[in-house]
Amino acid sequence: MALTLESLVTEADRCVACGLCLPHCPTYRKTGSEADSPRGRIQLMRAVSQNILPNNDRFKEHIDLCLSCRSCESVCPNNVNYGALVDATRALHLPKNTLWYRLTKPLIRHKSLQYLAGWLIWLSQCTKLDALLKRAIPLTNTLPVLDRPVTWKTFYPAHSPHKGSINLFLGCASNTFDQQTLKASIYVLNQLGIDVYIPSQSCCGSIARQMGDQAEAEELRQINQAAFDKKRPLITIASGCGAGLQDYLLTHSVQDISTFLLACDWTNVTIQPLATPIFVQDPCTLRNVQKGQQAVYQLLKKIPQAQVQPLPGNAQCCGGAGAYMLTQTTMASRLLADKLDAITSTGAVLLASANIGCSLHIAQGLRAQHKQVEVLHPVNIMAKQLGYITL
Ligand code: SF4
Ligand code: SF4
Repeated sequence: MALTLESLVTEADRCVACGLCLPHCPTYRKTGSEADSPRGRIQLMRAVSQNILPNNDRFKEHIDLCLSCRSCESVCPNNVNYGALVDATRALHLPKNTLWYRLTKPLIRHKSLQYLAGWLIWLSQCTKLDALLKRAIPLTNTLPVLDRPVTWKTFYPAHSPHKGSINLFLGCASNTFDQQTLKASIYVLNQLGIDVYIPSQSCCGSIARQMGDQAEAEELRQINQAAFDKKRPLITIASGCGAGLQDYLLTHSVQDISTFLLACDWTNVTIQPLATPIFVQDPCTLRNVQKGQQAVYQLLKKIPQAQVQPLPGNAQCCGGAGAYMLTQTTMASRLLADKLDAITSTGAVLLASANIGCSLHIAQGLRAQHKQVEVLHPVNIMAKQLGYITL
């Protein structure tokens, strides 16, 4: 649950300033400034909350530069809840009402607008008008090539023998830009005997939280709280959504799809071999919040002949970080450059990533460098090896 001003100060007081988190912080490693480190930011949050320091532009810059990657949290010996601290700081001290956020807020909230956006992008790509769009709005260079958008049924029955059922979380970015992974997920789950339910639902609220829009985040949380049957696991395909739901939708069992699939019975399916080496990028939210990154490796290793390896430098954020790649473009590009160098150093042609934000950011960087590297969700790779073509 969101911290109040008082509980924010209490949580910040738990930081003993040991500094063990500093070498794990991507922004501190880039700027070398204490104010861009977890320890420095926690001191700033506490000081501003107690009116010891002013809530000015410098404070805003240092908090805005934080990726919310939570690498600091996962190494903190005192278990300081940095994620809750930065979320509360953004809500209490730095709420944003930028034009960018006002324009995207309806799209994030309403599935009908996501379908409309998907159709417009798909049509522009089919008619080659997207080239004009990319020249007029460089930001649209981040868009992947879309499949023809589909409207989801509420239920996709399992193939026999029946083994269980789940609720599938669509996510606003995945539903708009990555329906391919949602379709592949349904295919794999059904093949393994799992019924898939897709009730009417909303965004996880992570972008609203990142923007300090606590009221919107809470409204979205309540919609999802009511939407999903608590008896079934709630499965996410984007760890960014999974982390947000896990933190705030406390009454539900939220699992990343790779973790869930790893525990399924695979004896009734045939997986085709794949000799292409698969490099795996670990999204921060999967590693530091959902703690599910090892499941991705284990799942992919089910493929006969698979050579599954971590991408060097996996501990550092790629700079995607939700809306960060759009709002903090300089730091996002610096972090992306490290990731692209790591990919080049391996000679990878296939990269697995379990988060849509990372995939979009990295794939856009690879396209800009004219690199022929396929960036796929691990479930897409599994689905292909099971014979999936299209739903
Ligand atoms: S590791 Fe934890 S206690 Fe130590 S400085 Fe970082 S946040 Fe504070
Ligand atoms: S969340 Fe990431 S960027 Fe922010 S202080 Fe922690 S390690 Fe640094």
